[in-house]
Amino acid sequence: MRLAPENQVALEALRAACRVCRAVAAGSFDAVRKADASPVTIADFASQAVIVARLRAHLGEPVIIGEESADELRVDLDRLDAVVAAARVAWPDADRDGVLAAIDAGAQRPTHGPYWTLDPIDGTKGFLRREQYAVCLARVDGDAPVVGLLGCPNLPRDPSRGVDRADAEGSVYVVEADGPVFELGVDDDAAREVPRAGAIGNEITATVSVESGHTKLDHVDAILRHLGRPSRTIRCDSQAKYALVARGQAHVYLRVPTDPTRVELVWDHAAGAVIAARTGMRVTDLRGAPLDFSAPPRLAKNVGILCAHPGIHGELVDAIAALGFV
Ligand code: AMP
Ligand code: MG
Repeated sequence: MRLAPENQVALEALRAACRVCRAVAAGSFDAVRKADASPVTIADFASQAVIVARLRAHLGEPVIIGEESADELRVDLDRLDAVVAAARVAWPDADRDGVLAAIDAGAQRPTHGPYWTLDPIDGTKGFLRREQYAVCLARVDGDAPVVGLLGCPNLPRDPSRGVDRADAEGSVYVVEADGPVFELGVDDDAAREVPRAGAIGNEITATVSVESGHTKLDHVDAILRHLGRPSRTIRCDSQAKYALVARGQAHVYLRVPTDPTRVELVWDHAAGAVIAARTGMRVTDLRGAPLDFSAPPRLAKNVGILCAHPGIHGELVDAIAALGFV
């Protein structure tokens, strides 16, 4: 595997952040609620700090649109110190000021021009359950991601091992430009090319959120029934769902909004979407429209997510329209 130097920096930053998350998960920690009521842990902040500090050290002052901001750490110094201690797993010289500056440098909100987008822990609820979560970094140029890096520290590389328990090795995916998708481990450098989409049989495997608040599960069931094919479902947190589709373990990832006003966010999809797309999958919204990453942080033109094998994508778009779900 040969990557452009800036993408190699990004890959090593991502793997370092995966190690930070693992170290936090191995101990005891709690979660606090953000303003939007979603949980955040010291690992979310430490992961963002480690990745942004590495990118800034090697790439100058890149535009990074990340999920977390340092505001709440400035008023909770005990928590800040816990974040610094966690970051030191991969950034031995980390201190309070360096960590705060790195997190804030990763919380930019420009609306045009190429950018990196970062979800330092996607699927924090999965992280809290010691199940699946993902560290997600992507480079977006124009409407679409062009580089994707997805670290899934608990996802077994061997698909026969199932996703409901934490794997010790984990899986990391990277794709750049028009190259193939590579799979390696968090610590294991041996990379393999993920094969492109093969033929599809009659039976469909879908992957959906574990959290019923994140996707309308009864609509997903109705869509699968409408196909008139046998189907099964893999429940999985985070953008690890895109990895399951990219590597052929699932044929479709469906995300049907529970709230019609819900707009998806760029860091929740950019890395996974480009990785699945480059193995030949079709990644669109529920109407079949391409995802539009040109106005971060929101995917304002899109409704829900449909990432599917090309042999089933059209049938799914038709089913969703026939059922009146868009
Ligand atoms: P997942 O692990 O795929 O269920 O999704 C995790 C992501 O769901 C988080 O990154 C959140 O940004 C996002 N999220 C939070 N609330 C909602 C919601 N009401 N609907 C859809 N996604 C949500
Ligand atoms: Mg997320």
